[in-house]
Amino acid sequence: MGLHQPQHRHLASRRSRDYLTQMAIREILEVPDPRLKQISAPVTQFDDDLRTLVADMFETMYDAPGIGLAAVQVGVPLRVLVIDLQPDDPDAEPVPCAHDGHHHHHQPTKREPQVFINPELLEPSEERTIYNEGCLSVPEMYAEVVRPARIRARWQDLDGQTHEEDMDGLLATCLQHEMDHLEGILFIDHLSRLKRTMVLKKLEKLRRAA
Ligand SMILES: [Zn+2]
Repeated sequence: MGLHQPQHRHLASRRSRDYLTQMAIREILEVPDPRLKQISAPVTQFDDDLRTLVADMFETMYDAPGIGLAAVQVGVPLRVLVIDLQPDDPDAEPVPCAHDGHHHHHQPTKREPQVFINPELLEPSEERTIYNEGCLSVPEMYAEVVRPARIRARWQDLDGQTHEEDMDGLLATCLQHEMDHLEGILFIDHLSRLKRTMVLKKLEKLRRAA
């Protein structure tokens, strides 16, 4: 999932770097790439390849930056999600900074990487919530999506251990958004056809301008 606040990054800037660095940042597929419509397959091997995939996904997500990423978004149709809601760390000292010619402070973020393998949605609540969602595969575009406010989720970790937890708030929204990717569904698929067309046209215009 993309950040709530629009990021003023150049659309083409991310890709050019991939060829030149050792960092395992992978290319994020963007609409209308048909590979985003794939149904992802369950993970059966909890091995080093899976660890490498997850490490690369975090690297890619932090670089974008975003708060959630599904493996299919980097072209690997497996049921693997990474999420980090990156809250500000209230205990950390603000870091003084002077870019833009102004002296100011940044509040460091505390990384909270979470991996969800073979996730399942168990008990979506009747109660709904609205969140202004974005997606790294639909860059710079945001739209309000209605989803269950609370869920119970079951998933496996990198060692294949099963976990189960009740969730609400942004984590519940983000996990549902990422789980949609496993079925080939994007957040714009939840919008009316008119709204979806408007979003895609806007994105097309932005790409031409970039
Ligand atoms: Zn997404």
